[in-house]
Amino acid sequence: YDHHGHYDHHDHHGAPAPGPSAKELIGDAFRDRVENIDHEFCDPGEEDTFFVADLGEVYRQHLRWKLNLPRVKPFYAVKCNGDAKLLEMLATLGTGFDCASKTEIETILRMGVDPSRIIYAQPCKTNSYVRYVANQGVRKMTFDNPDELRKIARLFPDAELYLRILTDDSSSLCRLSLKFGASLDSTDGLLALARELGLNVVGVSFHVGSGASDPQAFLKAVQDAHWVFQQAATHGYNLKTLDVGGGFCSDHTFEEMAVVLRNALDEYFPAHSGVDLIAEPGRYYASAAFTLACNVIARRTVEDTSGCGGNDASYMLYVNDGLYGNFSSIIFDHQHPVAKILRAGGQTLYDTPAANATTGNDGIEYSIWGPTCDGIDRITESIRFHKELDVGDWLYFEDMGAYTKCSATTFNGFSNEHEVVYVCSEPGARALLGWH
Ligand code: PLP
Repeated sequence: YDHHGHYDHHDHHGAPAPGPSAKELIGDAFRDRVENIDHEFCDPGEEDTFFVADLGEVYRQHLRWKLNLPRVKPFYAVKCNGDAKLLEMLATLGTGFDCASKTEIETILRMGVDPSRIIYAQPCKTNSYVRYVANQGVRKMTFDNPDELRKIARLFPDAELYLRILTDDSSSLCRLSLKFGASLDSTDGLLALARELGLNVVGVSFHVGSGASDPQAFLKAVQDAHWVFQQAATHGYNLKTLDVGGGFCSDHTFEEMAVVLRNALDEYFPAHSGVDLIAEPGRYYASAAFTLACNVIARRTVEDTSGCGGNDASYMLYVNDGLYGNFSSIIFDHQHPVAKILRAGGQTLYDTPAANATTGNDGIEYSIWGPTCDGIDRITESIRFHKELDVGDWLYFEDMGAYTKCSATTFNGFSNEHEVVYVCSEPGARALLGWH
C-alpha cells in the first residue's frame, strides 16, 4: 500500500504478481456456483443466498495495518464476523482477539491460540464467564464501574484490568459510549477503589464508536488516556498498555484515521515510554472480504399509474435474503448495501459495466425486498438497471463481511447458516494457509 491506501499488486522485485486478480477469482467462484443451478428442477435451498470470501483481502488489510500503525498490535473483534476461516487467517497472521462472551473465547482457545492473545473486552461481564476465563487463563479484561471491580475482586482478583474510558463517539455509525466507558471525573475514584481491592490495573482502553468518521476523536481519546495514565501513577499503578479500540473503516478513511492516531501515539505514548499499544479492529478486517449473492425468488410488476401513457412499469424484486438475514446490517449497522447484477437472462455479469445500476432516470426501476412476511424487510427502495431482471436471476452485494451474518436471524424459518465459498487472491496468504 502507498500512503493513499492504494495497493500495488507487485512482488518485491517489481514484477507483476502471478495468478488471477481478486476480481477474477471472485467472479470465477460466483460463476461456478450459480451457472450450475437449474432453477426449474433444483432441490429446495440449492439456490440459497451465499458468500464468496476472499481471504487474500484479509491478508492485504493486515499489511496495510502494519504499514500505517506499525506499533499497534491488532486484536480482531470476533463479534464483527466469527467466520472460522477468517479467524484462522488472522490467527495465522498473529493477531490477538477481542472477545465479548464465553462462546467467542472458547472458539478462539479451541483454535490453539494462547490465552494471552485474548482480551475479554466487555466492561459488564457475566459472573460465570468471569469464572470460566479465570480457569482458562484469559487474564486481560476491561471494566468501567465500581460494581464490576467488586465482581472481579471476588471472582478473578489476578485479572489484568483495562480501565475503559468514555469517548466522543458522535461521529460514528454505532455509538457505544451511551452504554460503556468511565467519564474522566470518575476515573480517580475507580483507580482508588481498584487499589483498595488489591486489583491489578494494567492499562486504559477506549472505543471511538464503530464506523467512526472523525479522526480527531482518536486524538482526544489518546490525550484523555494519557491523562488517566498519569492519574493512575498517583495511585501507584505503572500502566503498561493502551488499547485504542476499534472504529476503523476499510475504505480510504483508514489512512486518514491512522495518521492522526499514529501522530497522537507518537506524541503521548512514544516508543521510549515502554507502553505497549493494542487495538480492537473488527469492521476494518472483515468488511470488504465478503461478497454476498442473492437469488431473485419472485417478482411483482407495478403498473405505471402516472397517466402519462408511457411504458414505465417498475418491479418489486423479492430475493432470498433480507433484513432478518444478512442484511441485518441495514438496521443494526446503519449500512446501505448496493445491489449489482450477478446473473441476468442467462448471462453472468459480475464486475462488468452491465452489472451496475444506472444513474438518473435511465433504465428500469426496481425495489428489492427480503423473503419474510414483514413490510420492514426491504433492502432497497429504488434502483435502476438497464437489464430486465426476473425470477432465477442473481444479484450481488459487496462489503458484506461486517456485522451481517453474526446478527442474522431464522425469522420465518429461513436459515441463517449460509455457504461461504473461499478464495484467496494473495499468493502469500495461500502459502500461510497451506493452500496450493
Ligand atoms: N471493541 C469493542 C469493545 C466493541 O464493542 C466493538 C464493536 O462494537 C469493537 C471492538 C469493534 O469495532 P469496529 O468493528 O468498529 O472496529
